Amino acid sequence: MNKDDLEAKKSDFPEISSQMYNLLKELYPICRSITGDGVRKTLEIIQTHIPIEKHEVPSGTKVFDWTIPKEWNIKDAYIKNDKNEKIVDFQKSNLHILNYSKPIKSKLSLSELKHNLHTLPEQPNAIPYKTSYYNEDWGFCLTHNQFLTLKDGEYEIVIDSSLEDGNLTYGEFFLQGKKDEEVLLTCYTCHPSLCNDNLSGIVLVTLLAKFLSKFELNYSYRFLFIPETIGAITWLKFNEENISKIKHGLVVTCVGDSGKFTYKKSRIGDAEIDQTVINILKESEESFEISDFFPIGSDERQFCSPGFNLPVGSLMRTMYFNFPEYHTSLDNLEFVKAENLIKSFSMYLKIILELEKNSDSSKSKEKVKDQNTNREDVFINCIQKCEPNLGKRGLFDKVTRLDSGTTLRINWILNLSDGTNSLSDISNISGIEYNLIKETSELLLKHNLLKK
Ligand code: ZN
Repeated sequence: MNKDDLEAKKSDFPEISSQMYNLLKELYPICRSITGDGVRKTLEIIQTHIPIEKHEVPSGTKVFDWTIPKEWNIKDAYIKNDKNEKIVDFQKSNLHILNYSKPIKSKLSLSELKHNLHTLPEQPNAIPYKTSYYNEDWGFCLTHNQFLTLKDGEYEIVIDSSLEDGNLTYGEFFLQGKKDEEVLLTCYTCHPSLCNDNLSGIVLVTLLAKFLSKFELNYSYRFLFIPETIGAITWLKFNEENISKIKHGLVVTCVGDSGKFTYKKSRIGDAEIDQTVINILKESEESFEISDFFPIGSDERQFCSPGFNLPVGSLMRTMYFNFPEYHTSLDNLEFVKAENLIKSFSMYLKIILELEKNSDSSKSKEKVKDQNTNREDVFINCIQKCEPNLGKRGLFDKVTRLDSGTTLRINWILNLSDGTNSLSDISNISGIEYNLIKETSELLLKHNLLKK
């Protein structure tokens, strides 16, 4: 693919723009999760655009420090008041259910029920998106305004879901180029009715794959449609021997809002992909922000874990966490616009064009830092490949999925403890006080996640 090829195809952009938005609309109502039929249905719809290969990995399969969980499916869920009125209905919004809720049928008083209700007092009109993976629980999510109207009385609770041995499903599409060296473009398929995070990523990756398949390419391109975290860990586990073929990669997420572009660098920091994206953003007329790598966020956490340290960054519009609609019912079909999707699509294409142009001179130059293991406060993460499962060690707040200070410090220490960074280096890089880093490192030593 060269500049002239791309110019000639630019007339296709209005059509691509509407295809992206229509696909987003088609995928929006589906109740997805990290496993289950919602993911399968999503992949089947993507297959109407590109022939992705569907993979199924059985529950119980060990993948690095993790185990593929039971498969979750849901038919219905509601709360009825004592007048037999459905006051919370899964059929109206799949965000009403704590994702991965176990089945339940019960009658509860309001005070009992309250323990399993989730709201956002600071955004009283939004339904929050909450999950309970790896921790069998049940719950409902509703707007805070609705919550305030609930009266004392008896409530009927039904969650018609199943948590059974099954599979984790993911999709993969591969375009062979002249070289075997690969560019990885990855998105996640586990969020239910949320548009920017991450249906925007799915539709951009799908249409980009479809578009690129019309050209002769220098690099080979691999497109992943995986559930976040566990899907990336699973894919890395089963593709470990081919990982060295990946020369550049991007996690595609939050590309449909109207905010300025944000590029989160790879852990390497000055890999060719980092330089290329930054140069393209500078050349564009768009305003943008650059973020150094940090070990919270999306699947770059796994691809950039110390045992892989792949040149994988993430190009977004407004970064997750930073838009108020994030993980709420306000991240909907109005929040994402076709014109933003096509702008993001075009930015990704410019980056790919630049990588293609430089593909002959491209050298993977991974910096090898000196090992500092003889120093007093230098530790090594015992699980170098992907993140450890903190939940099974009681080190992760599963329901909120918010990163408390401790979780954040744990992630920084584990991500940077590759034998080259001391605790004071980690404190400097993360901007977190040394004493707190030191204290958290002791917790990790106790849990055998860190060693000398
Ligand atoms: Zn998310």
